[in-house]
Amino acid sequence: MTDATFPTFRHVPSQQARAQADREKILADPGFGVHFTDHMVAIDWTVEDGWHDAHVRPYGPLTFSPAAAVLHYGQEIFEGMKAFRHADGSVWTFRPESNGRRLQHSARRMALPELPVDLFVESIKQLVKTDEAWVPGGGESSLYIRPFMIANEDFLGVRPARRVAYYVIASPAGAYFKGGIKPVSIWLSRDYARAGRGGTGSAKCGGNYASSLLPQREAVENGCAQVLFLDAETNTYVEELGGMNVFLVQKDGSVITPSLTGSILEGITRDSVIQLLRDRGHTVTERRVEIAEWIEGVRSGEIAEVFACGTAASISPIGVLKGHDFSVGDADAQPGEITMAIRKDLLDIQYGRAPDRHGWLTRL
Ligand code: PMP
Repeated sequence: MTDATFPTFRHVPSQQARAQADREKILADPGFGVHFTDHMVAIDWTVEDGWHDAHVRPYGPLTFSPAAAVLHYGQEIFEGMKAFRHADGSVWTFRPESNGRRLQHSARRMALPELPVDLFVESIKQLVKTDEAWVPGGGESSLYIRPFMIANEDFLGVRPARRVAYYVIASPAGAYFKGGIKPVSIWLSRDYARAGRGGTGSAKCGGNYASSLLPQREAVENGCAQVLFLDAETNTYVEELGGMNVFLVQKDGSVITPSLTGSILEGITRDSVIQLLRDRGHTVTERRVEIAEWIEGVRSGEIAEVFACGTAASISPIGVLKGHDFSVGDADAQPGEITMAIRKDLLDIQYGRAPDRHGWLTRL
């Protein structure tokens, strides 16, 4: 990207921005993904003009043709990240360049244009600065940020769209675990896979989540919070949850996580957790993990802790893994010591309570 192509952001202020009292009512108990801030970012792209018309405008409905490619062929990608308010009132985000690079990776796989990483980071800054009052403070609350890109060209032929739009919206989020951290139960999906070799598993595209909804419903019907997917070819190796990566802590303190095979989403929390574990002196091995190793390891005690990680829930202990014909683990177990230590390390950096020794924070 050159300076000549870097668009400056135009601002169109919302005439319907909520009053302070209304906002504060929402921020007192924001839930997750139900309330949105007053503004959004939009940047257009065409084959002819590239990225152009970057602006911040009132949050509101999008207008595009019923023939828009995204509605028919799902040419769409997104990201998920958070802004955190520190005790001194300043607002920060976590490793935004990594989200920007992952959006580019997703774009390549879905034949969408790549947004330059510095434009991506700037788009986050523009929105969060405009709606800074919407970043909650206190506890484990945050502003969840959702950048996404859609093919909005009205054309029914199947080919990469020649007109695309990128948006950023934001939503205040309360603590994921209210009333204390509780280990979650996970459902092992045997009938459905998430991604196969050469598929879209390592891209953050809407279709991956659409296809996870049916197994997710199966999980909920069986009393579980999320689904664990195995590799599609052999149904043998652990891949990831519907929206989180997984780690197994062995009783000697060494840690295993499934290696990045191309069908797993490369979680930014996953990468950070590997670093934080190594900082604490743990050996971390990225390799293929058979589901039998997990089940037998928990039964024998060889595996002492299991946890999942991702932006939304940070780190979440896994208490039980179950499927149609088995269940391992203890739903009432206390969260593991190493799990909780790493969770604290991560949140302390994100909320400015510990030094940012890896340079992961960007001030917004
Ligand atoms: N796997 C999947 C399928 C996800 O949707 C997510 C959430 N983005 C993750 C893993 C965790 O990624 P991150 O740590 O970057 O949020």
